[in-house]
Amino acid sequence: MIVRKAKSFVFVLSLQIAYNEPMSKVTVWILGDQLLQSHPAIEVALERNAADQLQILLIESKGRLQRQPYQRKKLVLLLSAMRHYAERLRLDGLAVDYRASSSFAAGLIDHVKELGSGKIVTMACSSYEGREFQMNLQEHLGLPVELIANTQFLAGRYNPIPSPEPDKRYVMEYFYRDMRGHFDVLMDDGEPAGGEWNYDEANRKRLPKEIEPPEPIRFGPDEITQAVMEEVSGYETGVGSVDDFEYAVNHEEAEKALEDFLNNRLGQFGPYEDALTKRSHAVFHSMLSPYLNLGLLESLSVINKVEDLYRSGAARIESAEGFIRQVLGWREFMYWQYWRQMPGMLDQNAWEADASVPEFFWDGETDLACLAHALNRVIHTGYNHHIERLMVISNFFMLAGVKPRAANAWFLSMYIDAYDWVMPPNVIGMGLNADGGLTATKTYIASANYINKMGDFCSDCTFDHKKRHGKNACPYNFLYWNFILKHEERLRANPRTARNVLSLRYLDEHDRELVQMEAQDFLRDLNS
Ligand code: FAD
Repeated sequence: MIVRKAKSFVFVLSLQIAYNEPMSKVTVWILGDQLLQSHPAIEVALERNAADQLQILLIESKGRLQRQPYQRKKLVLLLSAMRHYAERLRLDGLAVDYRASSSFAAGLIDHVKELGSGKIVTMACSSYEGREFQMNLQEHLGLPVELIANTQFLAGRYNPIPSPEPDKRYVMEYFYRDMRGHFDVLMDDGEPAGGEWNYDEANRKRLPKEIEPPEPIRFGPDEITQAVMEEVSGYETGVGSVDDFEYAVNHEEAEKALEDFLNNRLGQFGPYEDALTKRSHAVFHSMLSPYLNLGLLESLSVINKVEDLYRSGAARIESAEGFIRQVLGWREFMYWQYWRQMPGMLDQNAWEADASVPEFFWDGETDLACLAHALNRVIHTGYNHHIERLMVISNFFMLAGVKPRAANAWFLSMYIDAYDWVMPPNVIGMGLNADGGLTATKTYIASANYINKMGDFCSDCTFDHKKRHGKNACPYNFLYWNFILKHEERLRANPRTARNVLSLRYLDEHDRELVQMEAQDFLRDLNS
């Protein structure tokens, strides 16, 4: 039997194996972030085998769970969701082998040795490394392995750019329009619903004082979750604590989290999508990424529900389109970029940044109010909304010259929704522009002016958001101007960042010297 080494791209459809051995057990190996309501690997296996021939395998790999420090709440979410999923499959009458092992390889070998198996069926992993492992599995186990296409991403079903040219930049906007057309989302007779493809201009409002975003729904831990919390709190390394764990851990709860968003936050999602505030953690964001990334929710069904609300008049177009753009546009584009750029993406460093992640990123101890809020939020809950991730945290990394690989690892450690496929395009591509602009057409850098314009963090900060240099000047300011001066030519050459450089005309020679000097002192202290 031959395993064809498929190209590592979005469309690894199958390692089809001629397999005729009758009556031996068939193992469906389900990965922890593939907890789909109706799982294609189980469906495929059931089409060809009787249910009593099937055994479902789920492995908790200690090596994988402890490869680096991870957000403890994320580990609770992942393990509790896996255990709930196994319970559900058992209730559906399937035989489930749920095992904790030192590694995936050890778990698979032990499973085959102890329970016997004539074949493994598994769905393609969303990450490069995981998929490489699956592709070598047949050789490793000496068993036929059927690798079926990953259905968690719509770009795995339809690829708007099947053969990208190596250095060509593809813009998310056109990718997204193509996806909308193909999946017939927010389309009226081939035209965008509401007349525009994009309502970005209406989606950049600061949160007014009189608007109080509602608290997202919380879920109390049941017995399974409590047991996991106890285990994870005993892990030697990890970020944050398991206390106050309130995430959904099964399909029913994830659906409730979706309903909560649709009923209480979608309406204001669009206008306040970019707002930064100390008054609310989620603002009007959905907080659905942990469930989409685990398979507890599926993107097309979420998208369709949002569109239905727009069609029924219950949601305005700026919100419906703004949200769908995130899921059908950005999420899919990032997955596409990941597969386009891996395996080299992790080593990209187009701005030659070489600093380490500052110590205070691990404990949130800083006088910078915006960073302190964002860092404490992520340490305690595992979550920041997009603008906190991009314009507060990643912006700081970019201005401070933090190495992309180190920044990527930090993000992987902190977040409730962090998975291997989602980090490099967001951190190395979008946040740090380290891939030469393949993911994002501009650098996302900003001074304190932007952070103050979009939010209320600056009002009680020790630093003065208006000062570029001198006593109490906000570090975002001198770091920003230092960055612009350092990379002036390069930023000027990009029409999307040339405007940042133009503002240099407001800085005389003396200002320029001071911002550079203060930036150097600050960075030296930070890295010492
Ligand atoms: P909403 O604002 O409500 O958006 C709806 C959904 O759109 C999200 O749930 C998510 O599934 C999807 N989405 C939107 N933008 C993106 C994007 N750029 N990439 C992927 N999905 C997107 N997303 C993660 O899922 N995991 C991460 O670890 C992660 N790290 C990030 C790090 C950085 C530096 C940046 C800039 C972005 C990161 N993102 C990540 C993308 C985005 O910030 C989060 O998906 C979003 O903040 C999750 O919160 P939400 O569910 O409330 O999103």
